[in-house]
Amino acid sequence: MTHPQEWLKVTSTGLYCAPGDFYIDPARPVERAVITHGHSDHARPGHRQVLATAGTLAVMGARFGAEAAAQTQAAAYGETIRIGDVLVRLAPAGHVLGSAQVVLEHGGSRVVVSGDYKRRPDPTCAPFEPVRCDVFVTEATFGLPVFRHPPDDAEIGRLLDSLRLFPERGHVVGVYALGKCQRVIALLRRAGYSAPIYLHGALQELCELYRAQGIELGDLRPATAAARVELAGQIVLAPPAAMADRWARRLPDPVVAMASGWMRVRARARQRGVELPLVISDHADWDELTRTFEDVGAPELWVTHGREEALIHYATGKGIRARALSLVGREEEGQ
Ligand SMILES: [Zn+2]
Ligand SMILES: [Zn+2]
Repeated sequence: MTHPQEWLKVTSTGLYCAPGDFYIDPARPVERAVITHGHSDHARPGHRQVLATAGTLAVMGARFGAEAAAQTQAAAYGETIRIGDVLVRLAPAGHVLGSAQVVLEHGGSRVVVSGDYKRRPDPTCAPFEPVRCDVFVTEATFGLPVFRHPPDDAEIGRLLDSLRLFPERGHVVGVYALGKCQRVIALLRRAGYSAPIYLHGALQELCELYRAQGIELGDLRPATAAARVELAGQIVLAPPAAMADRWARRLPDPVVAMASGWMRVRARARQRGVELPLVISDHADWDELTRTFEDVGAPELWVTHGREEALIHYATGKGIRARALSLVGREEEGQ
């Protein structure tokens, strides 16, 4: 048996699988890449060959156009593909539409590179599938015991309560364009909210893409086409960057909300001028991370980026060998 450390290497470009001669989520254009999902810190333009799910390829196409990749290959979840001397399979990661874990088999061992993931149900993507393995490669965005995300429905309930309390105020919610936006819409619909939801222009294309992939989002309208008075008591979604500028002021007396795992940190909410912080995250919290390590049963854990120390301490206490990879280029979109 060849230890995965011998064939899956940390380089300045990212994780490199030598027997297949490909990178996973490389930080620079490469000959051959396997991409876990469409967030900009994982999917970059300019690779020659890209293997990913059809959902991820669609997102990359929408974001990068002709620059997305010279050649693409779509893999269905569960389909096994041989690349060089490695068997590669994509398994759902539950993070955003099309997101996948990369399951690698070589030299008698199995490694799972999980990309970004979460464990709680998300109506806009396939649920995370735990895959038993010898090495589990994990992110650690919220890898501290203080991070415990509340139930999504409770957070959505707080937004709906605020709408009832302040029917004269427009409610603008900061959401990342890929994943969080569509999830917040789907959660609102699930909570019985059927009114139109207004969108900043930067969010429209990916919502259309989700719809084309079969995700129901209900009545969506461009915020720019609506008169100021029409937006009273309505929900408007905008990318976080738009919240900081004049854009939000088009709303009548806006309630500024933001949907992010970071809203658990009150200082961050205050700093961004967020009146209604909604703790809705597309990343695993502490309990989801530790439960996942149990589910995959790996004797060895590699932590790619985030808050590694507490997780490594936790894993070591459970008899799991753990190391920090400190991958570069993860600036974390879509938390
Ligand atoms: Zn992501
Ligand atoms: Zn990420």
